[in-house]
Amino acid sequence: MAEKQKLNPFQIAQQQLDRAAEVMKLDPGIHAILREPMRELHVSIPVRMDDGTIRVFKGFRVQYNDARGPCKGGIRFHPEETIDTVRALAAWMTWKTALMDLPLGGGKGGIICNPKEMSMGELERLSRGYVDQVGRILGPEKDIPAPDVYTNPQVMAWMADEYAKLRGYYVPGVVTGKPLPIGGSEGRDSATAKGAFYTIREAAKKLKLSLHNATFAVQGYGNAGRFIARFLHDAGAKLVAVSDSRGGIINRAGLDPQAVEKHKRETGSVVDFPGATSISNPELLELDVDILCPAALENQITGENAGRIQAKIVAELANGPTTPQADLILHERGVFVIPDFLCNAGGVTVSYFEWVQNLSNFYWDLSHVQALLDKTMTQSFWEVERAADKYRVDPRTAAYVVAVSRVAEAIRLRGIA
Ligand code: GLU
Repeated sequence: MAEKQKLNPFQIAQQQLDRAAEVMKLDPGIHAILREPMRELHVSIPVRMDDGTIRVFKGFRVQYNDARGPCKGGIRFHPEETIDTVRALAAWMTWKTALMDLPLGGGKGGIICNPKEMSMGELERLSRGYVDQVGRILGPEKDIPAPDVYTNPQVMAWMADEYAKLRGYYVPGVVTGKPLPIGGSEGRDSATAKGAFYTIREAAKKLKLSLHNATFAVQGYGNAGRFIARFLHDAGAKLVAVSDSRGGIINRAGLDPQAVEKHKRETGSVVDFPGATSISNPELLELDVDILCPAALENQITGENAGRIQAKIVAELANGPTTPQADLILHERGVFVIPDFLCNAGGVTVSYFEWVQNLSNFYWDLSHVQALLDKTMTQSFWEVERAADKYRVDPRTAAYVVAVSRVAEAIRLRGIA
């Protein structure tokens, strides 16, 4: 796939910004600032493995921009992590927090490792080792990590504990996505999918598509994928196919998301779910469904397969699943894309709520969290729609225009000297 080889995720993020800058006639100086990360830290983390040997893992933390507030964004554990992917993800976090109008900037972290081949003890030592290295640039008022691909509340708990050792006391606001008993927020576990559900609901209204009996497919059955399957199913939509890194399954009569989840918990994969037929990840993307939810990794919908996408709505729960070439093709073909940093912003929005609760030492109930999340997502969805109408551009470029203008304004007001 030529496009895939040519473009790395950070170049894609820069191209997307360049396009928005042109549309909104962004000041060239501010554009130059926003094309590059503010700061990045590369670390080597020695870990004593269970067999007694020492392995050294590479890790990164990129602080992309803090004009609107402390950097915010998850940490990924992935064997194919690269600095350019982390840079792109940190840029997207900057646009995501700005689009949601949260008083935060953007950052991202990553460690090159294969968590599937590591024991709990090894993962704990790796998580703690990362904070020992990166802790100096973290803090509730500096940079606040959270879960992402292959990291979870337990990993956040270890990181918060290691940071407590560095500071000498427990500082819950240093990471979000923590377990509830140590300062987590109600609703954070399913927040990414809940937020995505609200944007899909609004998109369906716009397209006059009833969610009841609408068909959908989900690529990726991690935190985002399994919850969106549940929420759409609860709204009356029919889940016809799901996949994970090992492959996919399809049943046109409908799959029960909770039963699939149980099967994955027991066997490690959705593959071989009773009563379903096997399907590959690329085939799943091209299915004739109303709503397609890419909820795995970047660069899945490309110039090569975008012409064959049949869904009416593509809801990007993953970060960066669609390349710029694919964006153009989908827009031309009238496929409605809910761009990643709008669609999946529910996670960081509830992370923000968690941070606010930690700083104020006062905890909210689930209904309060969900009502505020709904309001934030719905408002941002229609802000993007209004920008799309005003500038006559696709939803992603429109989301960029809204987000970038907020960050640019903060830079202008704070001044550069
Ligand atoms: N990793 C999530 C994202 O990509 C959440 C980030 C956060 O909560 O800070 O948006």
